[in-house]
Amino acid sequence: MFVKEKNNTDSSNTIRIPAFVDMHVHLREPGQTHKETVFSGSRAAKAGGFSHILCMPNTSPVIDTPELVSYIRSREAAVSVLPAAAVTKGQQGKELTDFYALKKAGALAFSDDGSPVEDKNIMREAMYRAVENEVLIISHCEDKSLISSRLQSPPEAEYSAVLRDCELAENTGARLHIAHISTKESVDIIRNAKKKGAKITCETCPHYFSLTRDDFFRVGTNAMMNPPLRKEEDVVAIKEGLRDGTIDVISTDHAPHSVYEKNQAPEFAPFGIIGLETSFCVSYTFLVKSGIITFERLISLMSEKPKEILGIKSSSYVVVDINTEFIYDVSCSYSLSRNSPFDKQRFYGKILKTVLED
Ligand SMILES: [Zn+2]
Repeated sequence: MFVKEKNNTDSSNTIRIPAFVDMHVHLREPGQTHKETVFSGSRAAKAGGFSHILCMPNTSPVIDTPELVSYIRSREAAVSVLPAAAVTKGQQGKELTDFYALKKAGALAFSDDGSPVEDKNIMREAMYRAVENEVLIISHCEDKSLISSRLQSPPEAEYSAVLRDCELAENTGARLHIAHISTKESVDIIRNAKKKGAKITCETCPHYFSLTRDDFFRVGTNAMMNPPLRKEEDVVAIKEGLRDGTIDVISTDHAPHSVYEKNQAPEFAPFGIIGLETSFCVSYTFLVKSGIITFERLISLMSEKPKEILGIKSSSYVVVDINTEFIYDVSCSYSLSRNSPFDKQRFYGKILKTVLED
C-alpha cells in the first residue's frame, strides 16, 4: 500500500493501539460498483487500520428497507461493515423510513447523508422517532437555499443547518451526530449546544484540518468535496475543537469516484475523496506530530469515541510505525478509486498490520 522511504527495522518504532472505527464511509454498493464495493472498500479500511466502518445509505437504490440493510450485511467484507439506513424514503426528504424495522434488520444509525433533510418538520419528526426507537441520527448539515452556485458553498450554508439541528436535538432529546464539520462557526455552535446538555456529538475529516481551499490550485478536483475546503482560520478552529473535545470523532467521508469523472472540469466533477488508507497518517502527522493533540487524544477520536457512540465493543488492534517517514502512493490503494489529494505526500504513522478480534 505504501512506498517505504527509509528502511528502519528498529522494533521500538512499532506500537500497538486499538483499531479504528470510521463512522462515515461511502461504499457505492449497490449501484456504482465501478467506484467501490463492500469488499474493496472494506479491504481499504483494513489496510487503513479500521476494524469497523459505518456505510452511508446514499447508494442506488438508497438503503431504506430492511432487505437492503440485510443485503449490505451479507456481502463479503474484510472488516465489520455496519450499514446506516436512510432517514427518509429514497432520501427524498418527504416520508420517514420505518426506523423500527430497519433497526431490527441491523441498521446502526440513520442518515440522509449526501443531502440534508431540508424540511425542519420532517427532521423534528425523525428526531422524535429516533428517541422512541433509541437510535442515532447523523446529520449532513447543508442549507441549500444559501448556495448560489455549485462551486461556492458558503460557511453559513453549513453552520445555519448545524444550528437548526442542534436546536432540534435540544428540544426533542434525540441523540444527534453531526457529520463532517468544516467551519469555525460550526465548532462554536456545537460547543455551546453541548454546554446546554444536548446529546450531540460531531465529527470532522482529515482534509478539514490538513488542507485549505487554496490547495485546489495545487491538487485540482481531488480537493473538491462537500462541504468544501475552507480558510486557514477554519482549520485553526477545527484543530482547537479537536483539542478541547468539542469535536468527538475523526471520520473519513471516504467517497470514491472514478478517474474519468474526476478528470472532468470542476463544474462537472463529482465531490468527494477517498480517505480510509490516509486517515491515520494524515491525522498523526498534522495533529500529533505537530503538537496540536496528544496521541491518547487521537486514539479517542479515531477509536474509543466512535465505538462508544455506535455501541461497539472490540479488542481489535493495529500495529503502527510512528517514526519512519514514508510517501503515500495512491496507485497501491485497495480502493477501486484513486481520488486522493494526498498522493505522493510524506507522512508519519504507517499502518503495519490490522488484527481483528472479537
Ligand atoms: Zn455528507
